[in-house]
Amino acid sequence: IPPPYLRPTWIDIDLDLVRINVQNLKKYIGDNVHLMAVVKANAYGYGIMEIARTSLSAGATWIGVATLDEALVLRREIAKHIPILVLGYVPVEHLSRASEANVTITGISLEWLQEADQAIEQPVDFHLKIDTGMNRLGCRTEDEVKKVIDIVSRNPKLRFTGAFTHFATSEDLTNRTYFLRQLSRFKQFLEIIPNRSEKLIHCSNSGATLYHDEKPFYNMVRCGKALTGPPNEPLKAFLPITLQSVISLHSVLSLVKEVEAGEKIGYADTYTTTKKQWIGTVPIGYGDGWHQNLKPTGVLVEGQRMEIVGRISMDQLMVGLDREYPVGTRVTFIGQQGNMTITGDEVASAAKIPRSEVFSAISSRVPRIYK
Ligand code: PLP
Repeated sequence: IPPPYLRPTWIDIDLDLVRINVQNLKKYIGDNVHLMAVVKANAYGYGIMEIARTSLSAGATWIGVATLDEALVLRREIAKHIPILVLGYVPVEHLSRASEANVTITGISLEWLQEADQAIEQPVDFHLKIDTGMNRLGCRTEDEVKKVIDIVSRNPKLRFTGAFTHFATSEDLTNRTYFLRQLSRFKQFLEIIPNRSEKLIHCSNSGATLYHDEKPFYNMVRCGKALTGPPNEPLKAFLPITLQSVISLHSVLSLVKEVEAGEKIGYADTYTTTKKQWIGTVPIGYGDGWHQNLKPTGVLVEGQRMEIVGRISMDQLMVGLDREYPVGTRVTFIGQQGNMTITGDEVASAAKIPRSEVFSAISSRVPRIYK
């Protein structure tokens, strides 16, 4: 573990595999479609700079983020000339910051555009968000979109350079009705967008890009999850390209002891030994993002699965061991040891949360080691 991290708890990320994933994605969507690498929230926990840089070198031509702050850091650090789109809310009072950094922002509603129309001082590029059923951001009716078109036709500082929507259920292949409804609504909205061929039109996240015969790519797709690995089964079986998992999470045994029957392990009264048992302490806890709900998949120690016992503390947790192991033995939370693997998807499924929630919650206290 490189300094300044002196605790042996870390994430390994293989950027060569990210590169191959991105190349495979790019090949799949074809030369005429831009690939936007979505790297918001520290690239879902994988590291914004490293994932953005690797994606750009492998064929991505746009970067997508959630906040203007993320965009400005990227602009400063690596993406001097690469187009960046802020997918989330930018308060109108910060329009000039976006303009100065040449960052494209999202027109999130008619009200937002009316406000921007009044406040804008320097020209700014924006993509209009159209709400086709996610009910999060976007114009909801053709009437609203027509009013936006009217505003931008009068105000040349508001440069309408793209339009997009976002799907709510693109990873649900058992019932595609809502997905198809959103796609058909999007097509209707596009009919009223002027100079469409000069704009970037996009709607597909990883799910919509990869799993639907419609291939609604238009001239850009926006992929986050797919950059860093395959989805869980049963979706994985439908992947049209190879995507490899790029991440693993490890720590070590910091203390190993045999405790008597009838002893409580950790805070509160969640686990009591029923017989003499070897217990290992591991320096990772919920302060690192390893929450109580991530317990069910356990850990790997010397290629065998062991149980996390007792309540997870802020900085440490305990595992039940089948025998004594030396202090310093590697403990794997996600990744492979021998023939055994715990995947991020397995952890996520057992915790009943999406995979992105597992990794984006792993705190900055856990160093990301890139190779
Ligand atoms: N586009 C928007 C608007 C998003 O909010 C996200 C992520 O949630 C993405 C694209 C990327 O989605 P995914 O990670 O499923 O590819």
